[in-house]
Amino acid sequence: MSDSILVINCGSSSLKFAVLCDEGQSVLLEGIADRLGYTNSTLTFKKDGNKESIHLKEGTHKSAVAEIKKWLSDRPAILDSLTGIGHRVVHGGETFSQSVLIDQSVIDGIAECANFAPLHSPAHIIGMNVAIELFPGIPQVAVFDTAFHQTLAAEQYLYPIPMALYRQHHFRKYGFHGTSYRYISRRLAELEPNSLQQGVLVAHLGNGASTCAINKGQSTDTSMGITPLEGLMMGTRCGSLDPSLLSFIAEAEGISSADALDVLNKKSGLLGISELSNDCRTLEEAMALGNEQAKLALDMFAIRTAKYLVSAATTLDSIDHLVFTGGIGENSSYVRAAICQQLKAFNIYIDGDKNSLRGATMSIESKQSHVKVWIIPTNEELMIALDTIHLIRQ
Ligand code: ADP
Repeated sequence: MSDSILVINCGSSSLKFAVLCDEGQSVLLEGIADRLGYTNSTLTFKKDGNKESIHLKEGTHKSAVAEIKKWLSDRPAILDSLTGIGHRVVHGGETFSQSVLIDQSVIDGIAECANFAPLHSPAHIIGMNVAIELFPGIPQVAVFDTAFHQTLAAEQYLYPIPMALYRQHHFRKYGFHGTSYRYISRRLAELEPNSLQQGVLVAHLGNGASTCAINKGQSTDTSMGITPLEGLMMGTRCGSLDPSLLSFIAEAEGISSADALDVLNKKSGLLGISELSNDCRTLEEAMALGNEQAKLALDMFAIRTAKYLVSAATTLDSIDHLVFTGGIGENSSYVRAAICQQLKAFNIYIDGDKNSLRGATMSIESKQSHVKVWIIPTNEELMIALDTIHLIRQ
């Protein structure tokens, strides 16, 4: 075992981690610390099909990293093979257009963008500082969700609001899921080397969902904005709508605008329309039992995704590939079919039989389709590990 990379993903109340070896190709260990900040937080390790959970007395990000270090110390073969640590960072603002080796100036740069990701950035910074303290001498790398979209043209990333707001406060579209899109572009190029000279549409559909247009290997448009709220309808987020609704909701419900924003972030989307769940699988099961609202929610989700794909395609020279990824994109044949149903005018057709298969990388277009349609499982951990290896070797 050599050159293992610890990948750390600090969320606001969770910390996911994995140890990858063999140039990122094998997962040695993975796990999650959840309910951080609460009294009943747990840390779970998964290795070789076995699961082990411990209670985290001090339910903090710091204690989670300390317990991971302790667990690794009991397995020196893994600990001694660690050559780098890669951190997922949600928001890199305009400062970071690629992954970087972490030093104090990088941590300061992440802190400067914290107003755009107030729940995530402080957690990232804690995770980095603790990892630097507990794994001295091991280089650490920051990989940003926003970085891939820094290639967007000003016409795409600017909001049509007074320019002074952009100049003074950096209010603009940043986009997210960039590490996933970069992985998909790279993986598609392994399958279809020409794709790096072609136009690719990607729908990353999970609980959070977005679309991306990739022209000749570069992101040219994406649906999420200054925060992940813009764009598609999602599990609990509304996606794009008339911004006036924010004050209408606040006034009608007698709540603050912060609470109204919470409604749009946490109570809308699939959950808001179905009044049942934010979870696609649950909604498909309910739809199969005749629940009309579950069907309405899924159909709205699909139709809006199709609209965003078409809109993103305006930045491509040609539409050559459409890729579905993320938990819904990879697994829901119903949603994929409903999206492609809206894309016939663009000569995008899928094969019903191939579309009903699941869980593997494959192309599912029918013979009449002018566009190749793919299911490609995303792998953000691998991308973070590869960036970490690359920067360390430089
Ligand atoms: P995120 O990373 O944004 O939290 P995921 O990419 O894990 O989300 O996707 C979660 C979504 O994928 C959920 O809505 C879940 O129901 C859906 N999903 C997972 N497996 C299936 C399946 N077999 N059929 C339909 N939907 C699925």
